[in-house]
Amino acid sequence: MSNRVVEGRMVTPERLAELVEGERPLEAESIEDAEMACPECGENVLSVGYMPSVTEFVTAYKCQECSWSDTDR
Ligand SMILES: [Zn+2]
Repeated sequence: MSNRVVEGRMVTPERLAELVEGERPLEAESIEDAEMACPECGENVLSVGYMPSVTEFVTAYKCQECSWSDTDR
């Protein structure tokens, strides 16, 4: 499963990374369940690994229901 519903909208891995990063990544991996609860609302959190630049790999975390997000930077 790759595309997931986030805040009521179907998103691709690239779009999910863009929501967290603010810019479209060069590449993004499949969306996974982060197996954690959102610290803001307690709902499910998704994770996606992506490359914002050729030298960097970041994992982003994004709540499916609210605007909370974080990265492993
Ligand atoms: Zn949340």
